[in-house]
Amino acid sequence: MNQKTIAFIGAGNMAFAIIAGLVKSGYPAANIIACNKSNQARCEQLRQMGLQVDLTNREAVERADVVILAVKPQMMAEVCAEFAEVDFADKWVISVAAGIAVARLEQLLPSARNIVRTMPNTPSLIGEGMSGLFAKKIVEPTACRFAEQLLSAVGQCYWVETESQLNQIIAITGSSPAYFFKFMEAMQQSAVKMGFSEQDARVLVQSVAIGAAKMVAANPELSLATLRENVTSKGGTTAQALAVFEQHRLDQTVDEAMNAAIKRAEEME
Ligand code: NAD
Repeated sequence: MNQKTIAFIGAGNMAFAIIAGLVKSGYPAANIIACNKSNQARCEQLRQMGLQVDLTNREAVERADVVILAVKPQMMAEVCAEFAEVDFADKWVISVAAGIAVARLEQLLPSARNIVRTMPNTPSLIGEGMSGLFAKKIVEPTACRFAEQLLSAVGQCYWVETESQLNQIIAITGSSPAYFFKFMEAMQQSAVKMGFSEQDARVLVQSVAIGAAKMVAANPELSLATLRENVTSKGGTTAQALAVFEQHRLDQTVDEAMNAAIKRAEEME
């Protein structure tokens, strides 16, 4: 894997997280090219890390074995137009852009045969990501393995069988950090109403969120329901709180919210 020259087109936050993870895991920085049109500070940072940062998008792609498309989705058509003359037949293309279907990438890069579409999430920015990956059956297995190794630099990977499942992945792992933030926000607001300072409320809520998530990870043999039941004594405080969630049909609300996310992802494609 380390022999391949990788070009990141759009070296923004997501690309930087992947690059930092790759370099940390021993990938030679000299084999990575990063292109960023406007952020000079980011380019300097990448140069200091030993990357090549002075090539145009087109030069970078011409030299690369693997092209990572990491510009914002709305920039994708314009950026790919710069590669109209480039032959992608022997290059692997990995897109991290949300909402750009493989069929669209095939239109934009007609000579590309090996395209892997990935859907990383925001915790990838701190190395705790969960990325969904999809590739058509015709894509070389080595290209798929490469994409998985690449995304493993920022967390875990999950392959989906069909592209439409990536929209479900968006609802489950892409949009969902915000669900947890929202829940924590509501808890913080409630604590502030009780009289705690915003900062103290945040520390309290944050520590319980981390603790609860770590308990889930540390006890894979216990179902989530069992973990919940273990802290819920009959007639106790937790039971009272959970009864209110039940009364307001929290499960149904979450289900509707996730389906709304899927619907929006489908509309955006
Ligand atoms: P970002 O704005 O930080 O990065 C995009 C970068 O592209 C910028 O640094 C910009 O300077 C550069 N750029 C713009 N036009 C360019 C051009 N013509 N040539 C070269 N570089 C150009 O955005 P991001 O958050 O890193 O998102 C990048 C992609 O990753 C998006 O497609 C997004 O859908 C996807 N993504 C991001 C996240 C996330 O948590 N940030 C999660 C999932 C998917």
